[in-house]
Amino acid sequence: MVCTLCGEEETHTHLFLKSRWVAGIWASIKFRLHIVSDPVDILSLSSDWRHNAVSCQQKMEWDIWACAILWCIWFERNARLFTDKKQHFMAVLATANHFASYGLE
Ligand SMILES: [Zn+2]
Repeated sequence: MVCTLCGEEETHTHLFLKSRWVAGIWASIKFRLHIVSDPVDILSLSSDWRHNAVSCQQKMEWDIWACAILWCIWFERNARLFTDKKQHFMAVLATANHFASYGLE
């Protein structure tokens, strides 16, 4: 299957973490959350980042952000696949920010 975000071969790891299209989203979140390492795969996404967290609050924030981003990427992928609607990655990042803010209240 072809990645609807960038046109390369779609795998779980590619779609959610490695696609050129999602790179800006992850870069923005890493900067915002002061994370230096890139996520390696979906299964280790939370655990790798949580390993470096300094507090339970920070671990919780990172988990919420990871879930919000993954969900928004999946939504954008399906919107492109099934409705041919496309958003800029900054719009998807804004949506993830909106969802994450509910979890962080
Ligand atoms: Zn891609």
